[in-house]
Amino acid sequence: MRRLDIAIAGCGIAGLAAALLLHRQGHAVTLYERFEAPQPVGSGLMIQPTGLAVLAQLGLAEEVVAAGAQVDALLGLNTEGERVLEASYADLSMPQAFGLGIHRASLFGALYDAVQAEGIAIHTGHAAAGSDLHGEGRRIVFADGSQSPVYDLVIDAAGLGSTLVPKPAEWLPFGALWATIDWPAGGPFDRRLLEQRYARAEQMAGLLPLGEGKAAFFWSLKGADHEGWQESGMAAWRTRVCQLWPACEVAVGQLQEQEQLTFARYAHRTTRNPVGERIVHLGDAWHAASPQLGQGANMALLDAWALSPALGGSDSLQTALAQFLHLRRDHVWLYQWLTWAFTPPFQSDSIWPAVFRDHVMAPGSRLGPFRRLKAATLSGLLGSPLARLGLAAPDYPALAASASSIRARASSLAQS
Ligand SMILES: Cc1cc2nc3c(=O)[nH]c(=O)nc-3n(C[C@H](O)[C@H](O)[C@H](O)COP(=O)(O)OP(=O)(O)OC[C@H]3O[C@@H](n4cnc5c(N)ncnc54)[C@H](O)[C@@H]3O)c2cc1C
Repeated sequence: MRRLDIAIAGCGIAGLAAALLLHRQGHAVTLYERFEAPQPVGSGLMIQPTGLAVLAQLGLAEEVVAAGAQVDALLGLNTEGERVLEASYADLSMPQAFGLGIHRASLFGALYDAVQAEGIAIHTGHAAAGSDLHGEGRRIVFADGSQSPVYDLVIDAAGLGSTLVPKPAEWLPFGALWATIDWPAGGPFDRRLLEQRYARAEQMAGLLPLGEGKAAFFWSLKGADHEGWQESGMAAWRTRVCQLWPACEVAVGQLQEQEQLTFARYAHRTTRNPVGERIVHLGDAWHAASPQLGQGANMALLDAWALSPALGGSDSLQTALAQFLHLRRDHVWLYQWLTWAFTPPFQSDSIWPAVFRDHVMAPGSRLGPFRRLKAATLSGLLGSPLARLGLAAPDYPALAASASSIRARASSLAQS
């Protein structure tokens, strides 16, 4: 493909990763971001083998692994203390694989610094409101009525609230309160576990190690109950958390003000046609989902990666976009469906999804072949997305070794 002029709306995970990859492929890339200063919103997230494989291609995997926490397994208990969700990366056929709990700011920082170091143009304070075809290309129309120059291709990486897609995402009843806290060293928590506790499917609490001495604490909350939570105050909330998970006293004791918690509403959308004339939608703009399976950022990275082989492999833009769709569509549909199916057993007012989870899903998933299936599902590897995209699996032993030497260097520098 000849050198293209490409505009990307959104300086998030998909936008920054796509900018780096397409710039390195020789295209002229310009990013547009609504905020005056690009910034990540929220606490932590999990990087799966899929996302890490893309970060390795970007040359950022070592830095990101050093900044995060290596998580060996996910463990969820119900109020009877039964293990109703258990998935371990050791069940994958990747030696020493782990999930990576990381603060959004660390992931964002690694991508943003790389974009800046490569001199890619970023126009901040530019909120896209739509786009139109003009002459031989497409341009972005901004909220203040101005327009961008005309580009060969517009990439919509504006996330959940994208205004470039035909249909807004639909809010789900549940969301969650999220906070970044110091790792609760006095508690009985394991730094290599993502732990969750469930009261039926009505309530979930979780603790995700993030690295650099931090953790993300989350507490599920319905959108309709957010105002009630604000009115009832922190002491009542901390009591509720400790009733469900007494060990969390040392974690939520750090949270005295409501401003320390961010309420994230979850939404679901699968844009029916993510490819149009001179436009493509990536990441949450294409497929937003509840973070129950923790795949969104990883899927955004895979989308960004898929554009380069698609554009590199064809002389026609429309053929390249069709190839992009071919590379990503099945995996996206599979995980949109899985997330839709697996959310009710963990977020629902009804007792039945929790009964199904505890008495059918949990015992069934402990049986031989299902352990591996569960690990592959959690890791984003179902449907073999890496092979399809020509991506190598992350070299976990090498990444763990280089992360510990980066950390050791940083700590000896800090001491000197
Ligand atoms: C509470 C929570 C927990 C999560 N946990 C995980 C997890 O563990 N693992 C995981 O993989 N995923 C997780 N996700 C999902 C993940 O955060 C998203 O899927 C991912 O951020 C999507 O990346 P994106 O680049 O498409 O969008 P975003 O990261 O949202 O980036 C969009 C960017 O576009 C900008 N923008 C928005 N509108 C406009 C506009 N009109 N014009 C210009 N710029 C605009 C935004 O400011 C932002 O910079 C979680 C999500 C939530 C809410």
